[in-house]
Amino acid sequence: MKQHNIVIIGSGFGGQSAAIKLLKQGREDFVILERRSFMGGTWCQNTYPGAAVDVQSPLYSISSEPYDWSQMYANQAELNEYTESVISKYNLRAKTDTSCNVQKVEWQDDISRWHIHTDNGEVYESQFIINASGPLSTPVIPNFKGRDTFKGKSFHTNDWDHDYDYKGKKVAIIGSGASAAQIIPAIAPDCGELHVFQRTPHWVMPRHDKVFKPWQRALLRNKFMYKMLRWSIYWGLETRIIGFKYSEAGLKRAAQAPAKAHIKRQIKDPVLREKVTPDYTIGCKRIILSSTLYPAYCRDNVFVHSKDDGIDEITETGINTTQGENLDFDLIIYSTGYDATDGVISYPVVGRGGKTIGDFWEDYPRAYLGTTIPDFPNLFIVTGPNTGIGHTSAIFVIEAQMNYIMDSIKRVLTSRAKSIEVTPEAEERYTNHIHDEMKKTVWEKGGCNSWYKSKSGKVIAMFPGFSWTFWLLAKNFKRADHTFK
Ligand SMILES: Cc1cc2nc3c(=O)[nH]c(=O)nc-3n(C[C@H](O)[C@H](O)[C@H](O)COP(=O)(O)OP(=O)(O)OC[C@H]3O[C@@H](n4cnc5c(N)ncnc54)[C@H](O)[C@@H]3O)c2cc1C
Repeated sequence: MKQHNIVIIGSGFGGQSAAIKLLKQGREDFVILERRSFMGGTWCQNTYPGAAVDVQSPLYSISSEPYDWSQMYANQAELNEYTESVISKYNLRAKTDTSCNVQKVEWQDDISRWHIHTDNGEVYESQFIINASGPLSTPVIPNFKGRDTFKGKSFHTNDWDHDYDYKGKKVAIIGSGASAAQIIPAIAPDCGELHVFQRTPHWVMPRHDKVFKPWQRALLRNKFMYKMLRWSIYWGLETRIIGFKYSEAGLKRAAQAPAKAHIKRQIKDPVLREKVTPDYTIGCKRIILSSTLYPAYCRDNVFVHSKDDGIDEITETGINTTQGENLDFDLIIYSTGYDATDGVISYPVVGRGGKTIGDFWEDYPRAYLGTTIPDFPNLFIVTGPNTGIGHTSAIFVIEAQMNYIMDSIKRVLTSRAKSIEVTPEAEERYTNHIHDEMKKTVWEKGGCNSWYKSKSGKVIAMFPGFSWTFWLLAKNFKRADHTFK
């Protein structure tokens, strides 16, 4: 059995942030477990054509790790380079066991430690677990009728097969969300035909990207300037929550009207306009930033199927649509996303008394500050329930969680206690507050069914407020909300 004080599960920005914080506190006795053969998470795994971030890079970066980005919205290759630079700077490779898929974790009450079982038969024992396994890490492919009979090529966007040459081929892409919106313009010119199947259209707003000039990149290398730019982007984005939560009229004026104008400006065909115009309030689903998607939709070799012309069945040779067309394809791309709610932790977690997180989440996923759960001592979930953020950088929230996690760990290690646990009352109070606040948001009221909602119908993937309020909550540790044993 391998002994460590802290086990971090996942090596994306969540795992890296945790590791950096621990190192800065002089805590070296930790290991990162990563199921892939490589480290890095989202931007090392998602290599599909056109992949890029949709939050400005100076903000979408670890706060202590500035970078002289070549453009405002970095593409995957640059995000991969950035990730590599962080991993190398802190020598995190030496702290990571790759190809190590955690399959189960179990709390041992008699010794106040966790046992972590991996698929290669190893068992790790640790006092603390920081689960950073990622909200959008395990891809989901819906069980379309006949899905497994297709004899052509198929893959999920999360697992792009670069050995497959799609040039001149008949391609179907299922899904029209954020990844599809990046892939379609990137591959459409090379496909023979590209058919887009959408469950519902998404609102799209122009993407105001900017390539930085050499002197601007030089300024980014200045820590003070980087910080200033970061904060101006942050506060600019933070105002969006006013529309998402407090003013539907304002949201429609400031975002939905420009999004409608974007359709009019870029699409002349009234039938296509109709197909891409959503029937729910903007923001209810993640807003897509793209200035190239609609021009791609207008190409002669691209066929956008309306939401009423969906997939009836997948066959050996292609797709039968609900409008009765039988279409043959060489390649089916599943841009069908992730389970960011009920399946946010991809392995069983067994807490005190044999209770699992699955049991605790039977009604819906929930956690105090999206991070801790009663009866699961010394377990911290990064990007857990209701920590997602649609209007700003996910890394900001990850780092806010780190304040709470590091504070909790420190309090145990500097006391006689062996474990910390949130009280059931505190968790319940917090969760009730979250869902009361959620009622005011466009994610709940906007008239859509999105991946933000769990099977319960509750919005689980989002935090219902300004991200700085989450930061404040996570920063100010409440002793009375916890028990130490
Ligand atoms: C295509 C895409 C685009 C995105 N764009 C944006 C954006 O523009 N802005 C934004 O704010 N957010 C975006 N996100 C959200 C993104 O998930 C977060 O920004 C952030 O990268 C999450 O970091 P993480 O470390 O929590 O998760 P990840 O980066 O997903 O890392 C999780 C790691 O845990 C590993 N892991 C999972 N399960 C196990 C296991 N059982 N055992 C061992 N290892 C395991 C995974 O292999 C992975 O390496 C995007 C996500 C995707 C998929």
